[in-house]
Amino acid sequence: MSTRIAMNSNLPVAVIGAGPVGLAAAAHLLARGLAPLVLEAGPGPGSSILEWGHVRLFSPWNYVVDPEAGRLLAPTGWQRPPEDEYPNGRELVERYLRPLSQVPALRDAIRYDSRVVSVSRAGFDRQKSDGRERAPFVLRVRHGDGRESDLFARAVVDASGTWHSPNPAGADGRVALGERALGDRVAYGIPDVRGPQRARWAGRRTLVLGSGHSAFNALLDLLALAEEAPGTEVVWAVRRTSLGSVFGGGLNDQLAERGKLGQRLRAQVEAGRLRIELGFRLERFERLADGSVVARSADGALAPVDQIVVATGFRPEVALLSELRTQLDPVTEAPAALAPLIDPNVHSCGTVRPHGFAELKHPEPDLYVIGMKSYGRAPTFLLLTGYEQARSVAAALAGDMAAAREVRLLLPETGVCGGSGRDDGASVAGGCCGGGEPAGAPQQITLRRRVGAGAASSSTSSCGS
Ligand SMILES: Cc1cc2nc3c(=O)[nH]c(=O)nc-3n(C[C@H](O)[C@H](O)[C@H](O)COP(=O)(O)OP(=O)(O)OC[C@H]3O[C@@H](n4cnc5c(N)ncnc54)[C@H](O)[C@@H]3O)c2cc1C
Repeated sequence: MSTRIAMNSNLPVAVIGAGPVGLAAAAHLLARGLAPLVLEAGPGPGSSILEWGHVRLFSPWNYVVDPEAGRLLAPTGWQRPPEDEYPNGRELVERYLRPLSQVPALRDAIRYDSRVVSVSRAGFDRQKSDGRERAPFVLRVRHGDGRESDLFARAVVDASGTWHSPNPAGADGRVALGERALGDRVAYGIPDVRGPQRARWAGRRTLVLGSGHSAFNALLDLLALAEEAPGTEVVWAVRRTSLGSVFGGGLNDQLAERGKLGQRLRAQVEAGRLRIELGFRLERFERLADGSVVARSADGALAPVDQIVVATGFRPEVALLSELRTQLDPVTEAPAALAPLIDPNVHSCGTVRPHGFAELKHPEPDLYVIGMKSYGRAPTFLLLTGYEQARSVAAALAGDMAAAREVRLLLPETGVCGGSGRDDGASVAGGCCGGGEPAGAPQQITLRRRVGAGAASSSTSSCGS
């Protein structure tokens, strides 16, 4: 165990976020005899996931449960869901994350309605070096009642995800002119258009921006609504000039449900059930007198619509850690050593190899960003990859460097990907995830072998955006 950890050994390891990866990190820390303190902004576990609770995962249950979390749950009488069934987001929370969060050892370590708003080293701003690594971390927490307090920690594991920092609509990565003023005319991510807000979408014209799996889900939901509600119209605008391999690997995708998602949308496109605008690079929105919205590019305007869905991917909230010494890749905003493995401009979806603390570390000792946020803007994250990150980071924090270096994940990879993800500069480019435009023909990816032992098998690359 290092000197700095020994000096702060009465302090907990702060875990930011009680999503699946944050809770997995807490389970692994407990297994290592370390004390986690999980700080969750929402009122319960999986708060971000509940916002897309209606969306079905493309991973079956056996790719969704962290092995260490499963061990914690086993003696509680928890019923492990059938391995080959696919939960939706709500089920993922109710059947796994909530029971996990109530295991006594974890329950007492989680604080809800506790949003971390900044992190630093106690008494040290980012510039000050001498003795820095011996100072505990200090986290400013905003509680549900608006009160703020500081908490101290020996290490920080940021598993806060990216759900609350969606990419804006502008083709240049900025908020488009007029976007902020759209109010309830715009939704980000995958709105539940057939749920409680149905009236907002039924019988209306909706423009969907983006070409990853979030856009697919939003489009398919809107097209299902159009079957039920006359007058519902769907327009899909993408930056690329051809749909090419946007629909993904289809039957060759080892995550069968992910493959089917693209094929279902392809069938709708081929049946002419939606209008498609190719090569559309949004610059501004304009509101017309009747309340409808016109989307404009440098080349012209689309027909007015009533609602906009922006499904252009997500980006990490980097300001949270701005007083710490992070080293982020300039393209993906992922940790510098991880970025070459996941940059969709360089790699097809099948090439993300399992990784751990070594790729995740920053110049700031004992700081790790894991889970969805660790991939920065790259859309290829999968839960089991995050669980392996959690295992390795917990081992490193416990000083078991041999276990931390071991890679315990078997990755049966996606069979066919779209090649590299060039998307004319679009920020959500990403081979298999349909966010990018292929540079070459689909390619077969070979299976990798397990190194070490222990964890369940997984598939690499996902499409959270
Ligand atoms: C629609 C969709 C479908 C997906 N399907 C799959 C799939 O089938 N298979 C798969 O493997 N992956 C899938 N993913 C990708 C990924 O596994 C999920 O996004 C997963 O939820 C990531 O887990 P996480 O714990 O990293 O982050 P999250 O689940 O986003 O959890 C982060 C938590 O941190 C909290 N938080 C955020 N900021 C703060 C703060 N400042 N302070 C305190 N708490 C904070 C949030 O409230 C949230 O509870 C999908 C993603 C999406 C969006």
